Amino acid sequence: MRSADDDRSSGRDGPRVAIVGRPNVGKSTLFNRLVGRRRAIVDDTPGVTRDVREAPAQLGDLAFTLLDTAGWETAGGEALEARMRRFTERAIDTAEVVLFLIDARAGVLPLDEAFAGWLRKRAGKVILVANKCEGRAGQQGLAEAHGLGLGEPIPFSAEHGEGLSDLHEALARYIEPMPEEEDDEFEDGEGAEGPSEAELAKRPLLLAIVGRPNVGKSTLVNRLVGEERVLTGPEAGITRDAIRVEWQWKGRQVRLVDTAGMRRRSRIEAKLEAASVADTLDTIRLADVCVVVLDAANMAEKQDLAVAGWVIEEGRALVIAVNKTDLLADDRSAASKAWRKLRDRLEASFAQVKDVPIVGISALNGRGVDRLMPAVFETYAIWNKRVPTPKLNRWLREMETLHPPPLANGRRIRLRFMTQIKIRPPTFILSVSQPEELGDDYLRFLINRLRDDFGLPGVPIRVTMRKPK
Ligand code: GDP
Ligand code: GDP
Repeated sequence: MRSADDDRSSGRDGPRVAIVGRPNVGKSTLFNRLVGRRRAIVDDTPGVTRDVREAPAQLGDLAFTLLDTAGWETAGGEALEARMRRFTERAIDTAEVVLFLIDARAGVLPLDEAFAGWLRKRAGKVILVANKCEGRAGQQGLAEAHGLGLGEPIPFSAEHGEGLSDLHEALARYIEPMPEEEDDEFEDGEGAEGPSEAELAKRPLLLAIVGRPNVGKSTLVNRLVGEERVLTGPEAGITRDAIRVEWQWKGRQVRLVDTAGMRRRSRIEAKLEAASVADTLDTIRLADVCVVVLDAANMAEKQDLAVAGWVIEEGRALVIAVNKTDLLADDRSAASKAWRKLRDRLEASFAQVKDVPIVGISALNGRGVDRLMPAVFETYAIWNKRVPTPKLNRWLREMETLHPPPLANGRRIRLRFMTQIKIRPPTFILSVSQPEELGDDYLRFLINRLRDDFGLPGVPIRVTMRKPK
């Protein structure tokens, strides 16, 4: 299964990435997530040693060899801690990158601190991953992880596949995407605040084209990429099924994350159905903007809405392309009725987003396709938008006057303070007295006004309420 380009780095299958951490933090779960679907096709490499599992793994366009330590800690003979230390040091010596996992639900334990101590000497190659962060139970552990002296922890859930795009970003600092020709200089300039405008332009927009089978995803990709298509990745589709496609749109770099449509050809039929849902989800998670392709003849089917729903849940920016408009009869009133119905269904299904851009296209003859990328970039810019805190709070005062929050327990609920803590997607914290009493209606009112007043259509907006200290 080797191919010539595997030799580009130290390993036979890209750089080596080791997973370390005390028992039970989720190392095997992460290992399986990153190698699992490939292993169905390519067998596990016979372990170099009995206690370290090694397998080719992939995350988006990054290929690497993953080393796992699951099971080694139970092998007898030596004191547990001595074995751990020995392995950890070996991992630091032989791997290009070390993923250090902690269990955010359990918080930082003394053994985690011991690991951190061994790892700090070479902190430059360590990525700190706070696993089990789904839901809220991991918040405390995540905060504690900052104290380990290994940089910003990545909130992650190996079990639920959350945090994959942050992990991808962190790994991309050490691993070159396939193939080698491109250099991604983005990380240098990126602060905790997220990318500036200039940086945004430098970084390729990660685009996913998703939708149910046969809506025309592959046709659209070919249309978008056109002559400039750079189809890459090792020839043998069976060992590496991610295909990297990159092109320019008005001087901006666009990288297709993946598409089920293209992958399908390299897949074994029997695994198709189950794999394609997982593929779609992974693709969505790794993308910045997702174009959900619908078929004009029967749009807004359950499956379409499900895919759009995943995009929103994952916090990605959403654009809808209604394809095959060439097949619609030239009946304008019927068409506009169908359009309105689609919009209504979207608004009814997804309270979190409004005014999702919808672009009618024909991937086959190209009609309307030139309006798709402008919509993609526009939504991308909104997804990256940051509302300054003073402005936000002036606005909050206004809202409080305009539409006073309800009374609760005999007192009026106060909206104290609001700040945007994150972009991609816009995420806000609202400090409010009696948060549990504010109610969904009021929150929806605020989110709707936030969207309208600050120009945030088409992207999921997240607001978390907090009690003032
Ligand atoms: P290892 O000993 O470090 O290899 O840990 P495992 O991968 O065997 O996981 C230990 C336990 O944690 C198992 O019960 C997993 O199902 C669970 N686990 C792994 N990842 C997560 C996660 O992201 N969230 C939660 N809640 N549990 C997880
Ligand atoms: P995918 O499964 O979503 O990747 O869909 P494909 O791109 O393979 O397209 C499925 C079928 O729909 C093919 O027969 C295409 O030729 C056809 N198709 C794709 N786009 C259009 C379009 O805009 N108009 C028409 N009439 N057919 C299309």
